[in-house]
Amino acid sequence: MSQEKDHMDYAQDLDIAARPDLTISVLGTDVGSLLGHGIPLFTIGGGYLRSALSQILVNFHARRGYYIAETPIVSSGALFELSGHMGYYKQNMFVFQVEGKEYAVKPMNCPFHILIFLSEVTRHRNKVSLPFKVFEVGRVHRLEPSGSVYGLLRSRSFTQDDAHIITLGKDAVNVITSVFDEMITIYSKLFNVEMNPSTVTLRLSLSDKSKIGTDFMGTKDEWEKAEDFLRGALEAIASKYGLRYTAAEGEAAFYGPKIDVLVKLGSGQEGKEWQLGTIQFDFNLPRRFKIFDAAKELYGSEDVYIIHRALIGSIERFLGAYLDNYKGRLPFVLAPLQFAVLAIKAGDEFDKRVEDFALSLHRALVAKGFRSGYGETTRTSLSGDVRLLESGPKPAAIVYVGRREIEKGSVTVSIYEGGSRRQTSVNASDPLGAADAIESLASRLEEPVKEIAGMVPRIPGDLSYQL
Ligand SMILES: [Zn+2]
Repeated sequence: MSQEKDHMDYAQDLDIAARPDLTISVLGTDVGSLLGHGIPLFTIGGGYLRSALSQILVNFHARRGYYIAETPIVSSGALFELSGHMGYYKQNMFVFQVEGKEYAVKPMNCPFHILIFLSEVTRHRNKVSLPFKVFEVGRVHRLEPSGSVYGLLRSRSFTQDDAHIITLGKDAVNVITSVFDEMITIYSKLFNVEMNPSTVTLRLSLSDKSKIGTDFMGTKDEWEKAEDFLRGALEAIASKYGLRYTAAEGEAAFYGPKIDVLVKLGSGQEGKEWQLGTIQFDFNLPRRFKIFDAAKELYGSEDVYIIHRALIGSIERFLGAYLDNYKGRLPFVLAPLQFAVLAIKAGDEFDKRVEDFALSLHRALVAKGFRSGYGETTRTSLSGDVRLLESGPKPAAIVYVGRREIEKGSVTVSIYEGGSRRQTSVNASDPLGAADAIESLASRLEEPVKEIAGMVPRIPGDLSYQL
């Protein structure tokens, strides 16, 4: 009896990540014991996917006024003392000693982004305007309890599509609303997930009043002011988009209240709700990093906040949820294997022609920047081979080249789109012509990403060895 696949099976099938129980034959050891509990190993397909996704996210944010950052993974513990992480979050951090000094692996990107802001205003004074927005595809490490660690869904090493916005209080509602617009754009245009009242719920996560000063940093007055403010912003968003919202006490981050965005991935009864995006409101870091003082001097107002936000949250977690709910089907732009070109061989006489045509077409697709694999099959085994591809690397498109196709001057392309495969024929008097025709089919699938990011990353690869 076959068991239902889970996201790590899909991740391995698509060559995105290795299952931790994969035993490396020559070493006689499994990947998980070498990497450590909760540290995923992304493999070749995952490398392509992550690079493409990062390029899209960087361009998307840069076009919307965010500055782009890339900050260290490890730093002196002094930075995290200043930010309060050592006081409130140390149990979740990897902390170690070097040369008699304490160092930490970053669990969050915020302190670095704030330091970038302070460094800019130190040098350029009030020429640096607010809101000041910094974005990073930021890798963080957190010591999650070992019992809760699971595959990509909850790992100890993960990557946030993270940004911090330093804003005056008077602009904060506008900032939060535009962050929510960005979230909707990414989900719908990049991942084909529509955000509407039936798929999205907002949740306001508040402090537990009895734990302010112990689990939650700051004073009761500060929390009340911030929570009232965020409630107002949440109501504005909920009514603008017609969304439902709930409130949850004790679920806030230690530095401030937040809006969590719960999104249903997958369709119909199989769909499942995930907590993905987040917008957090922070009055603690501005105080600790003396941003109140800097803002008063430079902008004439102390009414300033830091907003932490992530649109999909963690790339690993989002990917795990997406693979689970869409059974390993990724959007064309992110698919590790975009094309499988199959030469259908039958009868010796024409086989060489078929092979040459299919190989040239495959190479032309790689030259255009696509990830493609070349494989061979026969008419009688064709459907079985396609089933194998579908249950394995799941190419976004399968291209069939056989004797009949060459003689007719057309090849068949089967593209996965909107939940099913669609077959179409393209004119193909020669391999380069066929590659041009296939490229224009692909361009249509790339269009929504181009629209929001101003570009489409084409990271080519010959992945024939995976077929
Ligand atoms: Zn942050």
